[in-house]
Formats: sequence, structure tokens, C-alpha cells
Amino acid sequence: MADIKEKIIFSKQQLQLIATKKNCSSFSYKDWGDDSLLDLRCYIRNYYRNLQKGECAFCKKDLSIVAVGNAHVEHIVPKSIYPQFIFEPKNLCVICADCNQIKRDQEINKNTTNTLKKEFIKYPRSSKSFLIVHPHFDVWHNHLEKFNGFFISKDDHKERKGSFTIYACGLNRKFSKFGYEKEIYSDNDLMEAARKLIESDDIITRFNALTNLKNIINN
Ligand SMILES: [Zn+2]
Repeated sequence: MADIKEKIIFSKQQLQLIATKKNCSSFSYKDWGDDSLLDLRCYIRNYYRNLQKGECAFCKKDLSIVAVGNAHVEHIVPKSIYPQFIFEPKNLCVICADCNQIKRDQEINKNTTNTLKKEFIKYPRSSKSFLIVHPHFDVWHNHLEKFNGFFISKDDHKERKGSFTIYACGLNRKFSKFGYEKEIYSDNDLMEAARKLIESDDIITRFNALTNLKNIINN
């Protein structure tokens, strides 16, 4: 079972609005923020915010429960690359303001990260088609782990979804900006990092564990 178990279902009226937008030759992904889509965006936000239990789909941090400022509708396959999936229910979720800003900056700078392995005419129906941890197809905790605020991938040799998500959403942004804080570590942290380094067969997990250990010791 994936993190999001039920996709959003649009009303007849909403489907009519979507059809009108899709049939309009001048409609582009840049029109997503238009006033005419305000109610639809609000409906999507509230639906997925409830279903995701108020957690960001990528970093799992808390979303705003009432306000719109820290709960943004996200297109998992970027709308700038695949505008045909802009209203696809399985392409939608909600994310926090920081994850959204990172994705938005990429879009503005025309540096959007493609999350699909290859082009599809219809929206893919399998986890394997996506590079990113996809909340409608994947279980976040199977691919990622949070260790003292630091995100670590649980990738095996076949898949790189965890590492890709850390990279695409800049999940370790706090550490790249502020570095490590000495007080967040304890002996338990040291032992846990050492255990991961010794026990894991995965090179990325081992590398992350080694980096953690170095930081704990140097602090
Ligand atoms: Zn987030």
C-alpha cells in the first residue's frame, strides 16, 4: 500500500472546468495559478492535506492545517515538462513551503528535475516508471529515513528513488545551509551511525553513516 491510498475524485462541475481548460489552445502550465482555478486548487489542497495527515509528501514535515501558506499543491511529474498531466489525480499531492520553493525555483530557472524515467502518453500506473518516491505508488519509509533531521536513503542496488528524492527536493537543505549542530547528537546517535556503517551493504547508506560519524566526532 502506498502513502496515498485514494486519489481525488472530481465533481461533474470540476471535470467540466478541467475539460474547458484542456481544450483551450492558449492554456499552459503557467495558468495553474489563475483565479479561475482557485476553488479547484483549494479542493485539491484540502483533500490531499487530510489524506496525508498534514505531512509534506516529500520531507514529512508538518503542513499548515488551516492556512494555505505551508500546504502547496504539487505536481509530482512536473507540469512544465508534462502539462498534459496537470489535472491528473494521481499526479497531485501537497507539499510544504520549503519543498515547494525548491521545486518552484527549479521551474523558474528552467532547471526542473524530470521525475519520469521515460515519456508516457498516459499517466503511468506503476512505481517503476518514476524516479522519485511517488506518494501514490510508494511507501516513503521504504525508501527514506530521517536521522536527527538528516535524510538518508534506504536504496538498494536496483533502485535509487531515495537518493533521487533527497536530491530533487533538496531534503538536506538545513544541513547544507547551517551545517550540523553539536547538541543534536548523543551517544545513541553515535552508536546508530556506527551500526549503519558496519551493518549496511549499501554504499550510499554507508557513505551517509560515515559522514554522520565524522560530523559527530569533529563536533
Ligand atoms: Zn517538504
